[in-house]
Amino acid sequence: MKAVFLDRDGVLNPLIYDAEHGVYDSPLNPDQFSLMPGVAEGIQMMNRAGIPIVLASNQPGIAKGKISKALFDQIDRKMQRVLRKLGCYLDGVYYCLHHPEGVDERYRGDCSCRKPKSGLLTKAAEENGFELEESFLIGDGLTDIEAGLKAGCKTILVGTEKCDICRKSAELGVKPDYIAPNLYEAARVITGGG
Ligand SMILES: [Zn+2]
Repeated sequence: MKAVFLDRDGVLNPLIYDAEHGVYDSPLNPDQFSLMPGVAEGIQMMNRAGIPIVLASNQPGIAKGKISKALFDQIDRKMQRVLRKLGCYLDGVYYCLHHPEGVDERYRGDCSCRKPKSGLLTKAAEENGFELEESFLIGDGLTDIEAGLKAGCKTILVGTEKCDICRKSAELGVKPDYIAPNLYEAARVITGGG
């Protein structure tokens, strides 16, 4: 059975500007979580096509002491609630909560699941009987694409042809099979329709 692996931040929800550190980062509370354009429609399309959709996301915020586990769980629940309200759903959710330099020792360490490693994808495949070679990975970063390539998946970069990441991808030889402007167009590539 083929599956679709989705990154979260930058694919489902926008990154949030962290004024204190001057960088874009994951949402740190449920109010900062919203869906990007085309996400509900893209997930609906894949749900209708009967393709399992599994979130596979690095979330080192707890390890870095940026967010509590309780707030993190609230964001996860909001994501699932918002999708259900819009008539679509994820079939599974896999997070890597680790970080090699985490300040919270429960989540500190070199794990095998933090992308660009492929551990999250291979674990989800083992637990659910997915064929990785038939599956797709959709992400907005080269670490996502690299993880997908290592796992043997087809890969779709959410971005634009001229984006900085696309230039870097050519440099590094981490090339996605497809580039799509948003999840809706990525879903059209996968399902072959609309
Ligand atoms: Zn991990």
